[in-house]
Amino acid sequence: MNDNDVVRDLTLDGNAVAGLLEEVFGADMTTADGECAHCGSANAVGALRAYTRAPGVVLRCPACGGVIARIVQTPRGTLVDLRGAAHLAMRR
Ligand SMILES: [Zn+2]
Repeated sequence: MNDNDVVRDLTLDGNAVAGLLEEVFGADMTTADGECAHCGSANAVGALRAYTRAPGVVLRCPACGGVIARIVQTPRGTLVDLRGAAHLAMRR
């Protein structure tokens, strides 16, 4: 097993953090459509690559690997960084 295999094994998708996303956004976000601000590709949030071993959760674009969202929970509150998302569209 080389380093790339290890990284792949640690990679989840956005569905793995559905509970956290629903807590933060108040809606099921796995079916929300997101546009990557880095490369413009559109993906359901559930299809983003999720990294949960960083401090907090990082969601990356499956096309270009750019960071779309970071969510960090601390004892004082929750930080949501969405700089990498051109938009998120929640379904009604
Ligand atoms: Zn991208």
